[in-house]
Amino acid sequence: MTTMTTLTGESVHVDGDLDVLADDLAGRLIRPGDRDYDEARALWNGMTPRHPAAIVRCASTDDVSAVVRFAAERDLLLAVRGGGHNVAGTAGVDGGMVIDLSAINHVEVDPASRRARAGGGATFADLDAATQVHGLAAPGGVVSKTGIGGLTLSGGLGWLRRKHGLTCDNLVAATLVAADGTVHEVDEERDPELLWGLRGGGGNFGVVTELTYQLHPVGPEVFMGLAIHHADRAEEALRSYRDWVTDLPDEVSSIASCGSVPEADDFPEEYWGEPCVILVACAATDIAHGEALVQPLRDLDDPIADMSGPVPFTELQQLFDADYPDGIRYYWRSLHLPDLSDEVISRVLAWLHRCPSPRTTLDLWHLGGAMSRIAADATAYGDRSAPFLLGIEANWTDPADDDANLRWTRDCVEALEPLSTGREYLNFPGFLEDGQRTLRAAHGEANYARLRALKRRLDPHNLFRLHQNIAPDHT
Ligand SMILES: Cc1cc2nc3c(=O)[nH]c(=O)nc-3n(C[C@H](O)[C@H](O)[C@H](O)COP(=O)(O)OP(=O)(O)OC[C@H]3O[C@@H](n4cnc5c(N)ncnc54)[C@H](O)[C@@H]3O)c2cc1C
Repeated sequence: MTTMTTLTGESVHVDGDLDVLADDLAGRLIRPGDRDYDEARALWNGMTPRHPAAIVRCASTDDVSAVVRFAAERDLLLAVRGGGHNVAGTAGVDGGMVIDLSAINHVEVDPASRRARAGGGATFADLDAATQVHGLAAPGGVVSKTGIGGLTLSGGLGWLRRKHGLTCDNLVAATLVAADGTVHEVDEERDPELLWGLRGGGGNFGVVTELTYQLHPVGPEVFMGLAIHHADRAEEALRSYRDWVTDLPDEVSSIASCGSVPEADDFPEEYWGEPCVILVACAATDIAHGEALVQPLRDLDDPIADMSGPVPFTELQQLFDADYPDGIRYYWRSLHLPDLSDEVISRVLAWLHRCPSPRTTLDLWHLGGAMSRIAADATAYGDRSAPFLLGIEANWTDPADDDANLRWTRDCVEALEPLSTGREYLNFPGFLEDGQRTLRAAHGEANYARLRALKRRLDPHNLFRLHQNIAPDHT
């Protein structure tokens, strides 16, 4: 017997109704006991196991519409799964229903208009593979396995952010199934307010079954800077890095990642496991110009390794994939920084030395450039004035270490918060603790009020509530 949890926490029996739904779908209904149930319910973060009562692997917008109506009519708890990579595990729900978009992952590219239409369950690997055939790319994230859905709807920081903006800035159209099951074609002409809301407002307004991106000429090769500094010299290296990025042209987007030297063949074996700072940069321009732009990064102080060089853009997009295997344990937070002061640098390094896991990193993302020239009220995303984002990524494998890693991350956030702008990045959301405060600070009060009005129009009963939730009322 299938029992499902409603929005108010009650249990309802849905067996016969579910069978009727399954018969009408082009996609597949997966239930506990089915041979692929465990594979279908698995999420990227091993800290967030979920046991839904039903997972619908939708094959089309019509399927999504039918499932949304089914859930709305019965007030069922409903999760939406794009790439399943949300750190808080919002793509699953215990006892509820999941709309799994992974089979809606087509990508169609129109090189003439430089646009790509991609299914809401595509990953950046899917999108990059299709667009790079034409020497084009949409700004994405820095790991190719993440879903375009979740990443785009809450922002999107990647290697093209300073040259071409956030991923959500490049979202030009979408197909959305609202909470009553109606299908909305969204673009600047047909529903500019909803397009505004999808550029940073998360999964609050419905299921996006198709996203259309503005593309830009990129690659096929770009120049990558990658210099590793031992932690003994990290303070110096980070200060030099800060000085270097101060007047950097938009072409170069970079991250200073404080962690440990990976135990991998490409890295010098004598330093494996040693604390370090890895400076990584992408120059989104032709190779010769890119090499010249990145040269100063390679010359900073005395790196223990310089692995810079031209790489296919798709390879750069996958550079970090292996560092984030499915199913291990993760807890990620973030803070925007008004500057990279000497004090921030020394505190970040002090927290690096205290972290319980060698897999953990403290990542300083250099922002600015094109993404920062968009006004706070021009998209739901909000303010873009901070020049740096600190990503605090606790990554570990043993459940026995959960407490130590969660404590370290929370203490680190608390200690560094006074040096921050007080704003977190919604794509690195921890476990959504303190959700409303974080959400309002991220969007800003004026944007938040506009988002709430949109929510009342498209989802007045708050069916889509499991991601960072914009409540339609004041609850
Ligand atoms: C390994 C790794 C690397 C990352 N790197 C970056 C990075 O470089 N830059 C960056 O900005 N972020 C990065 N992130 C964060 C990432 O953007 C978020 O985790 C994001 O939520 C992942 O999207 P997803 O579709 O895979 O998530 P899911 O877990 O599938 O979805 C998360 C939520 O998004 C909503 N959602 C997803 N798809 C849709 C859709 N089609 N329609 C409506 N709602 C939808 C739902 O509310 C869902 O609960 C990274 C995350 C991981 C795990």
